Amino acid sequence: MRWDDFRRSDNIDDYRGDSGGGFGGGGGGFGFPIGGGGLGLGTVVVLGIIGYALGIDPSVLIGGAEILTGNRPGYQQPYQERRSTRGAPTDKTGQFVAAILGNTEDTWKAVFAANNRQYRAPRLVLFNGAIQGGCGMAQAAMGPFYCPNDQRIYIDTAFFQEIERRFRGCTGKACEFSQAYVLAHEVGHHVQNQFGTLSQARRQQESFGGARSPQSNAIQVRVELQADCYAGVWAARSNEKWKFIEPGDVEAAMQTAAAIGDDTLQKRAQGRVVPDSFTHGSAAQRQRWFNVGLKEGRVAACDTFAASAQL
Ligand SMILES: [Zn+2]
Repeated sequence: MRWDDFRRSDNIDDYRGDSGGGFGGGGGGFGFPIGGGGLGLGTVVVLGIIGYALGIDPSVLIGGAEILTGNRPGYQQPYQERRSTRGAPTDKTGQFVAAILGNTEDTWKAVFAANNRQYRAPRLVLFNGAIQGGCGMAQAAMGPFYCPNDQRIYIDTAFFQEIERRFRGCTGKACEFSQAYVLAHEVGHHVQNQFGTLSQARRQQESFGGARSPQSNAIQVRVELQADCYAGVWAARSNEKWKFIEPGDVEAAMQTAAAIGDDTLQKRAQGRVVPDSFTHGSAAQRQRWFNVGLKEGRVAACDTFAASAQL
């Protein structure tokens, strides 16, 4: 993909230089057994794409309620007390993130304006290791996530390399579009937050008794697939103007969507698949909804909550 021309967003708080490397141990990364919660993570709240792989309780994902119980390994100062650089970072990864975020801002602003609404952009926190935020402790191993409480996207850029190295979700230059898809997915959660979808979904989950019930997980899946679809809407709308998508890009994003499908991740982690415990959707579902957004380019096409929606 080409992103040189994209406007760089200044809505970035860069804490990368400030890390004590908090989350060094524990085998790091994404290969943890599912459901064990054996990491002793202090908190967890994630609308991230692989949060569940750490045994995160799906019921807390949506509203960003947190269950921080005190200092844990990897604990660092709350971000308010830590040094950060505000604005677009100058290194290549930081520039890339600022460019994609900036482009999502411009694109969603136009989409909202066309519907007589105002898009209020999220902030994005870049960090290493671990950081305290509005949804508790963010850990690099959780993968990128969106926190509805403080309307921030949290991303450890090491995740970008993980997409390529560990998941083999993409190769070479096409990885940029996969990374952009992941970022756009998190922005998609912010869009959902602005539409009131997240709080609505959370209320529904509570009515089903919350935590980890199959119904509650099913609602979470719809939230996540819609964020995938919104990522597709962003790509479609932006591409109309910028023609930034290059051959191989969409295929790479499809591979990434498959690599982070619940069935793929569960098979990797535990050798079997438990559909009732899905929180993000299967590989096929994630691919399908990203594609729906990409083909249709309309928010209305992303109604994963419609009774008639074929997930
Ligand atoms: Zn998500």
